[in-house]
Amino acid sequence: MSTWAILVAAGRGERLGLDQPKAFAKLGEEPLLAEPLRRLDESDWVDRIVIVAPPGWEEPAILLAEELACSKVHSCVAGGETRTDSVRVGLAEVPADAVAVLVHDAARPLLPEAVIERVLGALSEGWDGVVPGLAVADTLKRLDADGSIGETVDRDSLYAVQTPQAFPADVLRRAVSGDADATDCAGLVEAAGGRVTVVEGDPQLLKVTTADDLAKIASWL
Ligand code: C5P
Repeated sequence: MSTWAILVAAGRGERLGLDQPKAFAKLGEEPLLAEPLRRLDESDWVDRIVIVAPPGWEEPAILLAEELACSKVHSCVAGGETRTDSVRVGLAEVPADAVAVLVHDAARPLLPEAVIERVLGALSEGWDGVVPGLAVADTLKRLDADGSIGETVDRDSLYAVQTPQAFPADVLRRAVSGDADATDCAGLVEAAGGRVTVVEGDPQLLKVTTADDLAKIASWL
C-alpha cells in the first residue's frame, strides 16, 4: 500500500501582513513550511510527498527540503488560485498506483504522528474520507440579518475540522475532477456523494492565520 502526502502551502496569507507568502513566514528560526514537511518526511505512514508551493517559490521549497535532508519528496509544484486548485495540481503528481492520499495544510505546522495514524487507520475501515476534528466547546448562535440572534445551534454533533485529511486516491481524484470548490477536501468528497467520517483531532493542529497564531505555535514548540 502506498500513501502519498500532498502538502498544500500555496496560500498568500495576507492576514499575516508579510512580504513573503505564509509558508515562508518565520516560525522560530525556520520557514513555517519546514515543520510540517519534516514531520511528514519522518512519518512511518507516509511514503512520498508532493509539495504545493506558492507560485515562484518552488525553488526555495526544494532547497528547504534538501536542507532538511527529506528523503520522501517526489516533486514540488506551483499552487493555484484557490486551495482546491492547489490540491488538483498536487494530485496530478500522484501516480495511478497510489492507494491513499493524505492532504495537509502547511499552515498547520504541528502535525502529530498520532493524528496521521488515526486518519489512515480509520480509512482502512472503508470510508471515502477521514478527517480530524475537535468537538465544539462554545455555545453557537446564528445571527439574523438585523444582528439579533435568530437561533442557538445544537452543538452536540458539530466538529471543527482540521487536516491532515485522508482519502482513497481514486475517490479524491473523482472529487476534484470537475470544477467543484470547497474550503477543504472533505467538502469536495461529500459533494461527490462520498461518506466521510471524523476522528479525534488535536488542538496543536491550530492553523496559522494571524501573527498571534505564529507566536502561539512558536511558544508550543
Ligand atoms: O487559506 P486557507 O487558510 O484555507 O489555507 C489552508 C492551506 O491551504 C494553507 O496551508 C495554504 O497554504 C493552502 N492554500 C494553497 N493554495 C491556495 C490557498 C491556500 O495551497 N490557493
